[in-house]
Amino acid sequence: MLKERRVSKVGQLRVPGPTPCPPEVLQAMACQMINHRGPEFDKILLDVTAKLKHLFQTKNDLYLLTCSGTGGLEAAIVNTLSPGDKVLCVTVGAFGDRFTRIVEVFGAEVIPVRAEWGKAADPDEIRRALQKAPGIKAVLVTHNETSTGVTNDLAAISAVVKEFDKLLLVDAISSLGSIDLPVDKWRCDVTVTASQKGWMVPPGMAMVSLSQEAWQAHARARMPRFNWDFALARKYLEIGQTPWTPAVSIVFALSAALDMMLKEGLSNIFARHARVGKAAREGVKSLGLSLFADEQYASNTVTAVSVKDGMDVKAMLKMLREEYQIVLAGGQQSLQGKIFRIGHLGLVTEDDIKEIISALREVLPKVGA
Ligand SMILES: *Cc1c(COP(=O)(O)O)cnc(C)c1O
Repeated sequence: MLKERRVSKVGQLRVPGPTPCPPEVLQAMACQMINHRGPEFDKILLDVTAKLKHLFQTKNDLYLLTCSGTGGLEAAIVNTLSPGDKVLCVTVGAFGDRFTRIVEVFGAEVIPVRAEWGKAADPDEIRRALQKAPGIKAVLVTHNETSTGVTNDLAAISAVVKEFDKLLLVDAISSLGSIDLPVDKWRCDVTVTASQKGWMVPPGMAMVSLSQEAWQAHARARMPRFNWDFALARKYLEIGQTPWTPAVSIVFALSAALDMMLKEGLSNIFARHARVGKAAREGVKSLGLSLFADEQYASNTVTAVSVKDGMDVKAMLKMLREEYQIVLAGGQQSLQGKIFRIGHLGLVTEDDIKEIISALREVLPKVGA
């Protein structure tokens, strides 16, 4: 099975991460190891960091952490907060809840602002919460909630957070590099993404940017940290290294993927994801199915589809997988059996979506829809 997977495209992997990798990226992964404390790695690490800054639209510091996205979220928290800090946690789904849970585990006082799943966060509600609870240190928010297919209005949320001069920590794991997120313009203090999402790279690396305000918070933050300490990341990047052994092959892969992304250009990437997202939503509706997310905030990287009464979603996913080699995702937590999700971030075209919609058109009548 692994041998078959060495070719670049076997069917379609359309879960919202990991995403398919282009052949250039797979080839880069096959390179021989190099010394992560040697001159070759120094060069590639600095180059990858500079390219990432361009794609983050930031002049802030940026670090690669060897971990999945969740490690990056933990890093954002432990580097900027102290136990007992009041933190406003904006959550509209499973990933917002995870971000909230991490801050709770590390001893902060959570003040939640929740929206019904499928809806976006309301900036006015965030404003009211900030007015009501004095002494809040930071606001956590998910830019693109992968579990519900909702993209929050981060520009509006950031404007509110900055009215109150609070630190803004952003889970942009499934949006950065696919949906426009100008990190500096929107004043995101810590912004987290991960290699296996829109970056077209295998899992293994989180990429995190930090503003000057985040560094000031870092100086006061007392949450325990060792592996994720950004002070060490900064010290080592000055000599072209990471504090600990990084996932070297993932850095090779990122380098290849970033070259492809820069060649396509940021605005073209965003426009392609917008077209693909629209094609997914229109395709789904043409099948007589409805979108789970409030369409005004529907994500361009993942489409959540409501399951109709009597429709066997498990059988549908199995049939798509076995007969069409198309892998879609189910719902998470309370949405299990209620929705399914089409991931369309990274290496994806409108033709890929057409293929999925026509497969669904054939499969749906066979599974009770
Ligand atoms: C994928 C994802 C995560 C992180 O998941 P990992 O499995 O740790 O990489 C967090 N938040 C969002 C919004 C995601 O899409």
